[in-house]
Amino acid sequence: MGIQDDDIASVRAATDIVAVISEHVALKRVGRRWVGLCPFHNEKSGSFSVNAEEKLYYCFGCGAKGDVITFVREVEHLDFVGAVEKLAAKAGITLRYTDESQTEGRKRRAQLLEAVARAVDWYHARLLSAADAATARSYLRSRGLDGDDVRAYKIGWAPSGWDELARALRLPDDVFVEAGLGFLNRRGRPTDAFRGRVLFPIFDVAGAPVGFGGRVLPGQDGAKYKNSSQSTIYDKSRLLYGLNWSKADIVRADEAIVCEGYTDVIGFAKAGVPRAVATCGTALTEEHVKLLRSFARRLVLAFDADAAGQNAAERVYAWERQHDIDVAVAALPHGVDPAELALSDPGALADAVAQAQPFLKFRLDRVLGAAALDTPEQRARAAEAAMAVVQEHPSDLVRDQYLMEVAARCRVDPDQLRNRRFAPPRGAEPHKGRAGRQGRPPSDDGDERWDDDEPPPRGTLVRPERARPRPAPRDTAETEALRMLVWRRDEIGPWLHEALFREPVAASAYRALVSTPTVADAVAAAGSDDPAAGDLVQRLAVEETEADAHDVLSRLVDEAATAALSSLKAEARVADDPFAVGEAIAWLNLRIMELREPSTNEQALDQLLGWLTGRPEEEHG
Ligand code: ZN
Repeated sequence: MGIQDDDIASVRAATDIVAVISEHVALKRVGRRWVGLCPFHNEKSGSFSVNAEEKLYYCFGCGAKGDVITFVREVEHLDFVGAVEKLAAKAGITLRYTDESQTEGRKRRAQLLEAVARAVDWYHARLLSAADAATARSYLRSRGLDGDDVRAYKIGWAPSGWDELARALRLPDDVFVEAGLGFLNRRGRPTDAFRGRVLFPIFDVAGAPVGFGGRVLPGQDGAKYKNSSQSTIYDKSRLLYGLNWSKADIVRADEAIVCEGYTDVIGFAKAGVPRAVATCGTALTEEHVKLLRSFARRLVLAFDADAAGQNAAERVYAWERQHDIDVAVAALPHGVDPAELALSDPGALADAVAQAQPFLKFRLDRVLGAAALDTPEQRARAAEAAMAVVQEHPSDLVRDQYLMEVAARCRVDPDQLRNRRFAPPRGAEPHKGRAGRQGRPPSDDGDERWDDDEPPPRGTLVRPERARPRPAPRDTAETEALRMLVWRRDEIGPWLHEALFREPVAASAYRALVSTPTVADAVAAAGSDDPAAGDLVQRLAVEETEADAHDVLSRLVDEAATAALSSLKAEARVADDPFAVGEAIAWLNLRIMELREPSTNEQALDQLLGWLTGRPEEEHG
């Protein structure tokens, strides 16, 4: 199972690692490297380095490292083959597989995607020009979507006949059904899945169409929204409508807006905030959060997050901890959805995002805003309700700050609030039984938002010890010399010798670097010798050095000579003839002293290099 090695190598060679990483990380050029904030750990200063020439990255904070394929795997949660395929598609390289069944699976997927793409085009053309789509066109216009929007988002119209798409595309039955475009009726005839609906094609993050969200026209029968059914290409727990378009702005702003409707996503883009995504007929899942986390650290919820209640709150706090994200809630006017606001007051929609509140602050304001605070009894009740919300938060430091706010707003002694538990807010039925607001989001199965199969991650409320960024190891002269060998080989290479590297890891890295043509090859060679050596070369490949070659060489020789001196001294203590060794000790002592003196440094350096490496010596003076 896999892709042929030649093809993997061509994909690596054809890919610009800086361009790929820049889709996720804002990189800045520093010398010959590129530096940015690590997408794999939380940091304020850039520890994440990319070497464009060697096509490698390394993070000094968390140790994340690899090549462009590793990066795509990690950040987009793909397997190796998936990552190579993604990059190959971008580079226009056709892959050959080592296993036929693998090839078959990939071929099948390509066939299904092709079928959906043809359906997207057919439905789209139908909306643009067919007479039976006039009502759909005027409905879209009433929602503020003009012809340009319809074309940009490839919106379509599914006519109300039973099998118009099936007859137009004439796909093999199995492809038609498996691609989610329809089903076989009782007489075995292909029948369209979508009829009499405006269709919003749903694309995967790479921009391939994988399914549809269909909205019935106002006044027509049927569920308001119907989505493609779950299939090999359409997985609603991982899909986010709009991510293919908005990911660039999400990375730039380090923020993603999560809304509930397809027209909300479009509304945000039209209002000048082109970084919204929508779930496709399901609650926001942890998979969605993980996917978004690989593009941004902050999520702004642009739907009625309060209505989802306590259960949602627990999940949000768990995600904040586990995935190191901040979740905020957009300050939307109550009961107005983003698509409506985009139409009536686009500036207010942008402001609602700019003024988003932390999740807990938003919940607290809702509770206190609704409470009467005129009498002592009312204020005590309000304080209890507010504290029930505050105590959901897992951090005692955060809780205490909000507790002070509750105490002040309800005029209660904070110590009275500190030492007791509060019942969950009334009506906080976590799952079912909540009345949906008007303008319900797309939902193909009547799911409530937030509510999917897996239970909220209970018992994980204690903040896990986050992997602390490791301090960069203090560099030895050996490391510095290797780094210079990577970056400025001509300046130091001719004077180096394996004997100067006493650390086994450094020695192995040295051997790999001098025996292979490129640093990437050296990473592989060193890694097969000793994984730590592979790591070392990888790291050095992103650490440009400003050091002076002569200084580095002097330090390296000083360390090596000093080490040799101590072993000679140890030898002298047990030697039969201490004077034989004593002469060498005296000679070394003197040379080391000379090495440290600027006026005699150069000569001593030559002599010591000769002695340490066993090369033909120049005269010892
Ligand atoms: Zn990192």
